Amino acid sequence: NSPLHEVDPDVAAAVDAELHRQQSTLEMIASENFAPVAALQAQGSVLTNKYAEGYPGRRYYGGCEHVDVIEDLARSRVKELFGAEAANVQPHSGASANAAAMAALLEPGDTIMGLDLAHGGHLTHGMKINFSGRLYRVVPYHVDAATGLVDMAEVERLALEHRPKLIVAGWSAYPRQLDFAAFRRIADAAGSLLMVDMAHFAGLVAAGLHPNPVPFADVVTTTTHKTLGGPRGGVILSRKEHAKKINSSVFPGQQGGPLEHVIAAKAVAFKIAASGEFADRQRRTLEGARLLAERLTRPDAAAAGVSVLTGGTDVHLVLVDLRESELDGQQAEDRLHGIGITVNRNAVPNDPRPPMVTSGLRIGTPALATRGFTAEDFREVADVIAEALLPGPDEGALKARVSALAGKHPLYPGLNA
Ligand code: PLP
Repeated sequence: NSPLHEVDPDVAAAVDAELHRQQSTLEMIASENFAPVAALQAQGSVLTNKYAEGYPGRRYYGGCEHVDVIEDLARSRVKELFGAEAANVQPHSGASANAAAMAALLEPGDTIMGLDLAHGGHLTHGMKINFSGRLYRVVPYHVDAATGLVDMAEVERLALEHRPKLIVAGWSAYPRQLDFAAFRRIADAAGSLLMVDMAHFAGLVAAGLHPNPVPFADVVTTTTHKTLGGPRGGVILSRKEHAKKINSSVFPGQQGGPLEHVIAAKAVAFKIAASGEFADRQRRTLEGARLLAERLTRPDAAAAGVSVLTGGTDVHLVLVDLRESELDGQQAEDRLHGIGITVNRNAVPNDPRPPMVTSGLRIGTPALATRGFTAEDFREVADVIAEALLPGPDEGALKARVSALAGKHPLYPGLNA
């Protein structure tokens, strides 16, 4: 029972190096965040030792009295947070949550509709070589080429033509809010079930800064580690009528023992997500994204040929459009990495460049908001990014500005070795 640094110095060194990377760079990958220390502690606890197949009060193993308390807390907190009738907190990830939800509602061969991956959808919404594309017949819908907004006229036309068993609304790279009422109306007209995957924007919903899909959808899935800011994991919320099927789809349908250490960290994250501090953080997240969109499209910044898809953002990310820029997505990502800002390149709809290169960047603000970044800090971040994307940037000067920002908002100061 010696500490990690003694038992395995190699792993310990890599963990320390990763902590240093997170502390010293600016994390702007839109799907990432920093889990609170309390969640790290719960996840790094002895709960990892416990088998608990089944659900609270109905387990297939003895000794579950304490993990039952934890899983019950997680379920009741997340139901309360989003106003849901039922919750399953056992999915190991967002992809597992979607697989289990779909398996509960569909038979192989059924038709589903989802936003095309190349237009901002997720792998699990029907990508060809994902389980969703292999098990189900997929009819993708798209964003409108002119506005960049989800083409609801196309959604309606395709739904009435194909009568899918399930329509999936949700995205991984889209800077606007979806019209859940319109999706519900279309699903009803087509005789379809509606599943909303709110993985990206769940934190905004929890803070009351984004419409809540729960009243409109049969099933809502989410991850717990993006805007929600908790441990890596998934959740399925549903109407009561679907709960039994969903529970048996997760276990024993798809998974064995639940990760009670992660479920404990989820419970902690749900408690925090109901706080005023969390709402303030989500407000700064949105403000940061808005400032980023604004400043990257100012005439001097846009000299680099940069614009943002849909002209702005209502959420925690912006999608930079580099189709008019000399830089492609890979080069832009590398250039920002070189000055200490981590983002990911991303295809834009109808991207002329290949998928490994792309003509876009997805830039998100949740992790920096968690670090405490204010509007003033986000203005500075935006200006650093804008300058970095112009021809011939002064790398040394930009690196120093990144370091100053990182130093102003220390991350996990108590965790240093
Ligand atoms: N759903 C959406 C909309 C996502 O963006 C993602 C992850 O990026 C997932 C599901 C999958 O989550 P995970 O990576 O935890 O499987």
